[in-house]
Amino acid sequence: MSTNLTWHESIVSKAERAERKQQKPCVIWFTGLSGSGKSTLANALERALFERGHHCYLLDGDNVRQGLNSDLGFSDEARVENIRRIGETAKLFVDAGLIVMTAFISPFRTERELARNLVEDDEFIEVHVSASLDVCEERDPKGLYKKARAGEIPNFTGIGSAYEAPENPDLLVDTGSHDVGACAEQLVDYLAKKGVI
Ligand code: ADP
Repeated sequence: MSTNLTWHESIVSKAERAERKQQKPCVIWFTGLSGSGKSTLANALERALFERGHHCYLLDGDNVRQGLNSDLGFSDEARVENIRRIGETAKLFVDAGLIVMTAFISPFRTERELARNLVEDDEFIEVHVSASLDVCEERDPKGLYKKARAGEIPNFTGIGSAYEAPENPDLLVDTGSHDVGACAEQLVDYLAKKGVI
């Protein structure tokens, strides 16, 4: 990091921006196997919050990799950098007063901790989108498990690379047993209980 930089405090505070938006800005970090339902749920939640008048933004794994992180591959180093940039972007959006959702497999506990540590303790909500590998492989919405089984995707999470499930997530959503509507409702209820909305 350059040593000739100074952090400039903005005139309008994060708290003022949050109050104007009538919400508690935070990062809702969805983690789970490919096909567990992260994108589907994050989109359903964004729609539900938007309808209630909230200000949200969804950072989706595939989209970010086509833009901001298009220079990154899937080596361990690149995965860490991928998460760091997403975490920093989410932090900026939180500062702007938004409820930010992120939908990335983020299989490693250390990388999720890294993201958590970028914001205040009460600004990070880890949501484990949980469905068994069998269920996810059966769904295979992008055909990726099929490719991974055929050896075409090395290090695919759940097949060639581990998924470290959160030990103590803020919320666990069981998409293997409940439909999208019920899971989205569970999320909205949780956010209301926590005073986010
Ligand atoms: P991910 O983003 O985790 O890779 P996707 O959201 O792309 O997963 O795909 C999940 C698939 O599972 C979709 O086809 C979705 O319709 C289906 N699905 C079934 N039940 C649920 C549920 N309760 N929550 C989310 N998705 C579900």
